[in-house]
Amino acid sequence: MNFEPFTTWTEINLSALQNNYKQLQSISNRPVISVIKANAYGHGMVEAAKALQQVGAEWFAVARIEEALDLRNAIPAGKILVLGYTAPSFVPQAILQNICLTIYDSDTAKAYSLQAQKNQQRVSVHVKIDTGMSRLGISVEQAVEFLQFLHTMPGISVEGLYTHFACADEPERPETLSQIRKFDDVLDSLSALQLRPAWVHASNSAGVLNFPHARYDLVRCGIAQYGLHPSDKTLLPAAFQPVLSWKTRITSVKNFLPGTGISYNHRYITKNNEKIGVISVGYADGFRRCFNNSVLVRGKLVPIVGTICMDQCMVQLDSVPDVKIGDEVVIIGVQDDQKITAEQIAARWGTINYEVVSGIAARVPRIIVSR
Ligand SMILES: *Cc1c(COP(=O)(O)O)cnc(C)c1O
Repeated sequence: MNFEPFTTWTEINLSALQNNYKQLQSISNRPVISVIKANAYGHGMVEAAKALQQVGAEWFAVARIEEALDLRNAIPAGKILVLGYTAPSFVPQAILQNICLTIYDSDTAKAYSLQAQKNQQRVSVHVKIDTGMSRLGISVEQAVEFLQFLHTMPGISVEGLYTHFACADEPERPETLSQIRKFDDVLDSLSALQLRPAWVHASNSAGVLNFPHARYDLVRCGIAQYGLHPSDKTLLPAAFQPVLSWKTRITSVKNFLPGTGISYNHRYITKNNEKIGVISVGYADGFRRCFNNSVLVRGKLVPIVGTICMDQCMVQLDSVPDVKIGDEVVIIGVQDDQKITAEQIAARWGTINYEVVSGIAARVPRIIVSR
């Protein structure tokens, strides 16, 4: 394929995405809610959703109602769950577009109920319980009463119940077991009252891999779908494949004399006669402005030198004597027998692979490839 027009771009391998989804399905033996918030972790939400539907995905989760409405525009069928807070004024649109909302407090529930009744319709909700993440969710103590209350609210249809793990990627920690126990207690009480909703779910990607007894009716997977390890303590099985590569191009090559200052504030000064290239990626693309970056050029790992600019940065090319303007440069991905992973970049940047890929800016084209 020819990517000639692009100076920086990502390549999204949709067959790898489909493969990873099938792996998750077979590991969990459950329907998988494909978590495609934040533009499918930077991979491109709409194309990802369509590719997942081709292999049977029926459930999608996003963080915000705005993402859900965009997704619904692109995929008329499929269940869509909003994981975050939705203002009551969106309820009529959620009903119209068949979007499921998350609910966890009674004031918001009352406001949803009023909005739904105005239209003489019902809004579908999943109730979120806080079993230990201390983020969204009704407390374990109030959960049963809240479900009883919701049951009496006109215009609200409780279809699901879920919680979210705080430490599932650290399998040795006891907190997840305690979260599962609390969740199970709530479920037992609800079952006794015949109030257990149809769809119960808890596990994220790490939960699926580490806590087989917490799979309930559905599992919610993000990072593993993209072929990225949930953490360095929770690695994916070998059958998973990374979906995203990130590439750019050499846009200039020059030889400088010793003592030449490179880029803003001359934080790099050449020591010798040095070959310095420019590549077309910068911090406004999501390539972090820090000093320990490197990329692949003609199969060699070469260091970025000097301050990273908004749209460009400089690269030390002494080890690549035959480099030419237009050469492809790999930021994440494979070149010849060399590879740079999102996990390696995360380690350089002091963050996690999630932030690396979801931070790739919207202006970077997502090019679909299937290998
Ligand atoms: C993002 C998110 C997920 C997916 O987590 P991964 O670790 O990417 O699998 C699942 N559930 C909730 C509530 C989330 O916010």
